[in-house]
Amino acid sequence: MPLYRDEAIVLRTHKLGEADRIVTLLTRRLGKVRAVGKGVRRTKSRFGSRLEPAMHVDIQCYEGRSLDTVTQVETLDPWGDAISRDYPSYTAATAVLETCDRLTEEREPALQQYLLLAGALRSLAGKEHDPNLVLDAYLLRALAVAGWAPSFSDCAKCGAPGPHNAFNIAAGGAVCPVCRPPGSAAPALATLRLLAALLSGDWTLADASDLRARREGSGLVTAFLQWHLERGVRSLRHVERIAQG
Ligand SMILES: [Zn+2]
Repeated sequence: MPLYRDEAIVLRTHKLGEADRIVTLLTRRLGKVRAVGKGVRRTKSRFGSRLEPAMHVDIQCYEGRSLDTVTQVETLDPWGDAISRDYPSYTAATAVLETCDRLTEEREPALQQYLLLAGALRSLAGKEHDPNLVLDAYLLRALAVAGWAPSFSDCAKCGAPGPHNAFNIAAGGAVCPVCRPPGSAAPALATLRLLAALLSGDWTLADASDLRARREGSGLVTAFLQWHLERGVRSLRHVERIAQG
């Protein structure tokens, strides 16, 4: 059986039998893989705590027919530990990990998704920005990489230069007065500016945004994500509750 070694981030885990765990990982080179961590739930396990969600690891596995087997794990960055100590970061990370799992396929290399995921988790672990902003920036960019880049300025239908104060998810973002379909949202221009900044990585503008723009922006990002992903992203519910409460 071939052996491989790669840098990876743990997306999720679930129990298998008495002591084992199935780990879903996004690897840097190979894309998403599922592997069994044998005996990792025993207290004496050498690498159990390294195979927790959001951990950044150097991993070695034997390739199996349907499931691989983890043979070695070394921690590169204990992002999962830092994130689990802060509830807003934890709920944001949970939504990031679930979205990444939904946007990637097993054994299909996804380097850009990997880099976005690593950037978001590093930022959450380091408390660099408001966790909700990190989440929204991640969601917008991950959707853009998947081929669904929204427009926040020029009209998504005819390209008429913006800004336009109408937004339509089905149309792909901002829409001009001519193209505007009935039922379009009318977000504040500050909200669209914030979302454009999050998509392009302009953190100076994003960090200076006010709470109203952040809340309205999160609502639009969530709606945009749910529109593109069948069944939606379950863990976003916890994030929204925090944002509203
Ligand atoms: Zn138009």
